[in-house]
Amino acid sequence: MGKIQMVDLKGQYLKIKDEVDAGIQNVIDNTAFINGPIVKEFAEHLSQYMGGCYVTPCANGTDALQIALMALELKPGDEVIVPAFTYVASAEVIGLLGLTPVMVDVDYETFNVTVDNIKKALSPKTKAIIPVHLFGQSCDMGPILAFAKEHNLFVIEDNAQAIGAEYTFSDGHRAKTGTMGTIGCTSFFPSKNLGCYGDGGAIFTKDEKLAERIHMIANHGQRVKYHHSVIGCNSRLDSIQAAILDVKLKHLDEYGKARYEAASYYTKQLKAFDPEEKFFITPKELPNSTHVYHQYTLKIKNNKRDELKAYLAEQGIPSMIYYPLPLQEQEAFKPITRAAESLDKSKECAYSVLSLPIHTEMTKDIQDLVINNIKEFYK
Ligand SMILES: *Cc1c(COP(=O)(O)O)cnc(C)c1O
Repeated sequence: MGKIQMVDLKGQYLKIKDEVDAGIQNVIDNTAFINGPIVKEFAEHLSQYMGGCYVTPCANGTDALQIALMALELKPGDEVIVPAFTYVASAEVIGLLGLTPVMVDVDYETFNVTVDNIKKALSPKTKAIIPVHLFGQSCDMGPILAFAKEHNLFVIEDNAQAIGAEYTFSDGHRAKTGTMGTIGCTSFFPSKNLGCYGDGGAIFTKDEKLAERIHMIANHGQRVKYHHSVIGCNSRLDSIQAAILDVKLKHLDEYGKARYEAASYYTKQLKAFDPEEKFFITPKELPNSTHVYHQYTLKIKNNKRDELKAYLAEQGIPSMIYYPLPLQEQEAFKPITRAAESLDKSKECAYSVLSLPIHTEMTKDIQDLVINNIKEFYK
């Protein structure tokens, strides 16, 4: 079976090796390392996949979020609502641009922000909301978008963990996560659901004017070479990464399905073992979103999380804590943040979550080993 890993990028690569290698070699042969034709081709394919929006590839997911905020022309002092339980990047860019992050609590069951929590954070200075589709499932976007519209707020979806997930609105129409808000952002970090072999990211919008502005900002604020109309940055997706992503995009739905099946198996077995949730809580799936399980995350009860993690590690089973501290407890955010309400659920999540190995190459054997060791721990 080999060593169990949180993600198996090698196993995944071996299945598409010929195509990936050819794509990389092609870039080298043409020496079109920066902004080669493959970058544009990949962006077009990704746009089709996302249901037809403007796509600006960029250097990483954090840049994507930063460029999104820059494109919306927010001013220092403007407030941006962000969940307290997320990866730091979602809030970091707000602080970086001199804006004020306003943290809101997440829902204990789904790990995502809800419109009710967002409402409590609204102030006259609120300009934008960054809903994060954490762990691979969409936030309940219908009510969030309606609220944003009512109060004239921009919505920037942090879709770094949920690319490929689909949300169904109450009228039945469906949309890919990352295409519902004003702007959507994603990351192609290697372990993400659509990951390259280095850093990468992309920005989505359906607004043509905004897309132009995003494109310009990612490219030194220039439309015409050496003519800079605004302060921008240098954020590009390498041609080699685009070539790899163009191959992997074709498999993205199949990858999402493999992750979903692995998650379902975990849940079925773990629930059978602990039907009354005495030991842990398995992930909850929203009825109006598909789940692409970027992470399979349990909440461990009775303060046993760290003990269980250590036990599994002794048995050669990795697990990860995404994320050990809620943002309000991070040193960097204390001086700049406004917290609108109690952030207890975010804290509870941070102190109890444990993510199990999940990836596109999971086998029942691997999963049984993980599951049996969890059972063994509770014996
Ligand atoms: C990975 C991630 C990012 C940042 O992406 P990078 O490519 O690593 O910069 C942002 N938000 C979330 C939720 C992420 O998981």
